[in-house]
Amino acid sequence: MITISNIKKHFGSLEVLKGISLVINKGEVVSIVGPSGAGKTTLLQIIGTLDKPDTGSVTIDGQEITNLSSGKLADFRNKHIGFVFQFHQLLPEFSAMENVMIPALISGASRRQAKEKALSLLDMLGLSDRVNHKPAELSGGEKQRVAVARALVNDPSVVLADEPSGSLDSKNKSELHQLFFELRDRLGQTFVIVTHDESLAELTDRTIHMRDGMIVDDTRKEQEQTVEP
Ligand code: ADP
Repeated sequence: MITISNIKKHFGSLEVLKGISLVINKGEVVSIVGPSGAGKTTLLQIIGTLDKPDTGSVTIDGQEITNLSSGKLADFRNKHIGFVFQFHQLLPEFSAMENVMIPALISGASRRQAKEKALSLLDMLGLSDRVNHKPAELSGGEKQRVAVARALVNDPSVVLADEPSGSLDSKNKSELHQLFFELRDRLGQTFVIVTHDESLAELTDRTIHMRDGMIVDDTRKEQEQTVEP
């Protein structure tokens, strides 16, 4: 699903990623943790095709993305990758439904298709009575759920989230975390989540610890053993 081979990234003389290799399987919910400055966001941006490594390769859904032209990359990103940020980044002048529709319209869906898809996602996320509300009329948790619906509107295979619960209180935080697992179970998406939130990292299938531009630990949760009678 996602194969990263020996990627390195510098900003000026600072080597931020020092040869990262990683395979993430379809349907895994993976957290990336580590101290500030470890390179977590840079790695997420590279997986999200928002930035390019200096060397190394990144393959998503069978497509090597590091050599794509910027037009092809934007198209690939729109179709394959959804993003959820710490601050929802919804457009204030548009309703919840319109915010969710926008990436679908950019990808060439008709207004009718985009609206249907937006309404069905907002319904699935428990927001059917909020579709015509503007972001300022929604609570923090609702705004973040609209942002999740927007991330899903083009049926991406990968959802990338950077501190998605960083701006939420603890109740909304745990609801959002629960949502990621429900969506994975229903839709089969792969989630890669950068987080400081230990309660989220503990829940994920796999936790990758980064420090100083390197992966220092990569732990999968033990599969529950089925004991034969
Ligand atoms: P983390 O997400 O683990 O906190 P980042 O990936 O955001 O780490 O940053 C890693 C290092 O790269 C930090 O020292 C940061 O200051 C630096 N950095 C990140 N983005 C840029 C950039 N666009 N230009 C220069 N330095 C950057």
